[in-house]
Amino acid sequence: MSQKRDYYEVLGLDRKASDPDIKKAFRSKAREFHPDKNPDDPEAEARFKEVQEAYAILSNPDERRKYDMFGHDRPGGSPWGSGGFQGVNISIDDLFGGGFDSIFSSLFGGGSRQRPSRGADLLIRHVISFQDAFTGLDDEIEIDVLNRCDSCEGSGSQTPDGIRVCPTCDGRGRLTRIERIGPFQQQVTQDCRACGGDGRIIQNPCKNCNGEGRAEQPKKVKFSVPAGIESGTRLRLSGHGESPRDQNGKPGNLYIEIEVEEHDWFERDGSDLLMALPVSYVDLVLGTNIEIPHIDDSNLTVSISPGSKPGETVTIPNRGLPYPRGGRGRGAVMVLLKLSMPNKLSRSTKKQLNELKEDLASGASITDDIINEARDRRRS
Ligand SMILES: [Zn+2]
Ligand SMILES: [Zn+2]
Repeated sequence: MSQKRDYYEVLGLDRKASDPDIKKAFRSKAREFHPDKNPDDPEAEARFKEVQEAYAILSNPDERRKYDMFGHDRPGGSPWGSGGFQGVNISIDDLFGGGFDSIFSSLFGGGSRQRPSRGADLLIRHVISFQDAFTGLDDEIEIDVLNRCDSCEGSGSQTPDGIRVCPTCDGRGRLTRIERIGPFQQQVTQDCRACGGDGRIIQNPCKNCNGEGRAEQPKKVKFSVPAGIESGTRLRLSGHGESPRDQNGKPGNLYIEIEVEEHDWFERDGSDLLMALPVSYVDLVLGTNIEIPHIDDSNLTVSISPGSKPGETVTIPNRGLPYPRGGRGRGAVMVLLKLSMPNKLSRSTKKQLNELKEDLASGASITDDIINEARDRRRS
């Protein structure tokens, strides 16, 4: 179990930091670790979440006071519940403006601001061939997405005049009351039960969407897969997720997680390709060039120099996969030489091998041979 870091330390602040200091520190750290800037980096992802959590607490006066007093072990347990902090969705653009304020202020139900409504994010897995991962491709998928209902144009009502402002909350969707906990007064805000937090009451719900204003609809999504992509990479399509509940909100994002199919013989190490090549004893001793069909449509020539040993590697630069994210050039192909043993020997081959046996002997005693081998091995 790792020790949870101090929130001030996470943001690089001291305990006297002002609200603007906290905001400034958060902006800069969140930009540094944002997943868009660090794709495929679980460490950065963890840091991003950590920074978010620290900001969520320190930017909320009530939560900050509790944290200053009790640290992480506050009475009543974690403010996040047993699941811990789940992270919030902030786009990198929001970090330049102030778009993240309302997201954080809604976390504890504080403040009187309307909760920002954003549609849910979606995650789709998509399999592509190894060859497509090499060349990159433009692809298209069809998915069912919760979208604005066409029948009621998102209002949720069968008729335009069938919508009333909720009398319980005056259309705010939330109710606020003051609660006393020991010496503290706390403002508690909850969704209005009468309207379910919508602020409106629909008297005659749309039949197509049951008054939700959203309905599942098939949608075609086009996207580009960059050359050199690795399995597990998530492509982000902003605004292609679910529509928001509230008509003024923003749609969520669609993430497409790419899975690259296995190649018949290559293993991947980033942009490098690894393979094993079975070669005969004769080819190792005499050396040869072996041609193999390759993913870039021109043959790969593996040059085995005379006197090569099994287990040695031949590296062919610039014939692996393209470096992703606009890097120049390609990785290498690394070919591991494996000694291939003949399955069956004809009588005449056996005879020829026996004749060779004497030629190939070193002439030294067996212990000298062993000592020489040990010396070479220990030197390398
Ligand atoms: Zn209401
Ligand atoms: Zn509808």
